[in-house]
Amino acid sequence: MPEKGLLFILSGPSGVGKGTVRKALFESEGIGLKYSVSMTTRHQRKGEVEGVDYFFRTKEEFEALIAQGKMLEYAEYVGNYYGTPLDYVKKTLADGYDVFLEIEVQGAMKVKEKVPEGIFIFLTPPDLKELKSRIVGRGTDDLSVIEERMKVSQQEIEMMSHYDYAVVNDQIDSAVSKIRCIIESEHCRIANVLGSYEEMIKE
Ligand code: 5GP
Repeated sequence: MPEKGLLFILSGPSGVGKGTVRKALFESEGIGLKYSVSMTTRHQRKGEVEGVDYFFRTKEEFEALIAQGKMLEYAEYVGNYYGTPLDYVKKTLADGYDVFLEIEVQGAMKVKEKVPEGIFIFLTPPDLKELKSRIVGRGTDDLSVIEERMKVSQQEIEMMSHYDYAVVNDQIDSAVSKIRCIIESEHCRIANVLGSYEEMIKE
């Protein structure tokens, strides 16, 4: 039996650059993590690929999966559902791979209830003004959506104390290298190392 993988959760306010940092992390060399592709009911943006960026589903399909207990977590965010399919996470961890989630804060808190041993990383903006310009600069949302996203962001920043690590996203490369350090450190944590020995002893 391979040892069980570790679950990493990257979260933080909307517009802080979670998606960009996650993509850069997965493009960086020798990354052994598996990214859990989320499911959403929001419209597919230009350039987004089904099964790579998201699994795009209707509201009815998403609600059916919730009812069947197929989501590790889900959240309603700015009028759409976003969620993490459970089976992929379970199987991939059991196969011995680390799994990486990139999700908003409500969902991260639900994961914390279900998987308290997960490693929770909060990506913070250098300051709030910059956050607004990043959301506006993205240019894919209209003004009322931007305002709602900003309101949610301020509430989310107050949630930081529930996380294990904070990474300031001032520069993508530096955020990525900090996250890589966190991943490496977690593999040196005695509890995680002992966990894998215990698995071996049980066999
Ligand atoms: P966007 O619509 O910009 O792709 O994503 C909006 C927000 O949903 C982002 O903060 C993103 O991290 C979050 N998100 C993406 N996938 C999931 C998921 O599976 N669960 C939850 N709770 N949030 C997600």
